[in-house]
Amino acid sequence: MTGALRERFWERYTLEELTTPEWEALCDGCGQCCLLKLHDEESQELAVLNVACRLLDTHSCQCSDYENRFDFVPDCTQLTPELVKEFTWLPSTCGYRRVAEGRKLAGWHPLLSNDAERVHRKGVSVRSYAVSQDDVPENQLESHIIAVLPM
Ligand code: SF4
Ligand code: SF4
Repeated sequence: MTGALRERFWERYTLEELTTPEWEALCDGCGQCCLLKLHDEESQELAVLNVACRLLDTHSCQCSDYENRFDFVPDCTQLTPELVKEFTWLPSTCGYRRVAEGRKLAGWHPLLSNDAERVHRKGVSVRSYAVSQDDVPENQLESHIIAVLPM
């Protein structure tokens, strides 16, 4: 796959200029955006849970059916350059957010390390703490809040 990627594309092109394979490769595989969130319209806050979307493989931190995900999770969002700027809740580590903000990728990013496990060893991914949505009753979701962010 790397053959389809332009050399150090993340430093030379904007998000809007990336090819589809480059766009996909920019994801570091942390799985943080697949954690469930609770919106509080009144307080304008967003609570992030340690509960992952039911399609997330909580070990690999990859979507288990990426191609067909919208059939099962209609509210899953296809990230776009515009949404990367809009989604202030994306973690500061996120590859898309870094490029959008003109920051460098971290050394542990798979594009630099050639090691998809580093994001897990570094503790950036959700592997060590995420539980699947299928294992948490709906009425217990609030007890799984791990962060509260402004919307
Ligand atoms: S937060 Fe960003 S880097 Fe992490 S899985 Fe989501 S899109 Fe990929
Ligand atoms: S459907 Fe897949 S990509 Fe979308 S939130 Fe769930 S696990 Fe993540």
